[in-house]
Amino acid sequence: MSNLDRQAVPSLCGGRGFVVAEPVRELLSPRRVRLGASTEVRRLLPNLGRRMIGAWAFVDHYGPDDIADEPGMQVPPHPHMGLQTVSWLHDGEVLHRDSTGSLQTIRPRELGLMTSGRAISHSEESPKSHARFLHGAQLWVALPDAHRHIDPKFEHHAELPTVTAPGVEATVLLGDLDGAHSPGSTYSPLVGADLTLTSGTETRLPLVPDFEYGVLSMSGEAHVDGVPVLPGSMLYLGCGRTELPLRADSDAELMLLGGEPFEEELIMWWNFVGRSQEEIVQAREDWMKGTRFGEVKGYDGAPLPAPKLPDLPLKPRGRAR
Ligand code: MN
Repeated sequence: MSNLDRQAVPSLCGGRGFVVAEPVRELLSPRRVRLGASTEVRRLLPNLGRRMIGAWAFVDHYGPDDIADEPGMQVPPHPHMGLQTVSWLHDGEVLHRDSTGSLQTIRPRELGLMTSGRAISHSEESPKSHARFLHGAQLWVALPDAHRHIDPKFEHHAELPTVTAPGVEATVLLGDLDGAHSPGSTYSPLVGADLTLTSGTETRLPLVPDFEYGVLSMSGEAHVDGVPVLPGSMLYLGCGRTELPLRADSDAELMLLGGEPFEEELIMWWNFVGRSQEEIVQAREDWMKGTRFGEVKGYDGAPLPAPKLPDLPLKPRGRAR
């Protein structure tokens, strides 16, 4: 999906200043953001007090929405640079098209991974004939400087590794968890895992102390390190953990997001991640002129115009919490 915010505000993120070195339990409340006419998402990142978790720079949770008599998701062609988009569904399906010529239906628990590199554009829509419910998460991973100018590409992985323990199944969508390795391309040490817990489960998940982590609740009643996390909320956990206690009071679905703290300072505006105001201004201009970001073929509708850039100067900086 996309940042369709017409009043897009720049987000300055990355850098050590944001990272909490020790274990913490910081509950992040979602911001409700309207996408188009019918869809409302809960935005967890960037959040007022927290911009990134490792290289994870953007987290939207949406649904479950009953779209039986509605068009569902309708996101016209729009550009990206400097990031990867991760499409992850629990219900429904999304038809992805992009400027490298991809045409792919993404289904529940399949990884749709788009690496923008220097420039890509894509559209996302519910197919004309679609399932009744749409439920998922849209996530972005910032690309480190050494890889952010690479060629754009799209990957679809229907088969992903799982890690199981009594009462819990973890699907590794990106990076590594407990020895299981996702086939999705990554450019910094990180993990994204989908956790399905059976009611009554108490378990401990192995973590890497150098990573910072957060857990998003998708459904059910779960306690993460003793804290109840409601669906659509996220708990930031800091660094310095070797394991994470989880408890499910009903069947529950969580997403574990983590990674090495992202040291580079970034400017995130609209659908772009850059390092300077000039880069962001140039990307916006290139999109509006119809250059650089290619063309999405087959989408029935006009591309999305970029919002106005704010007047304030955009400068990346680390900010002490
Ligand atoms: Mn997008």
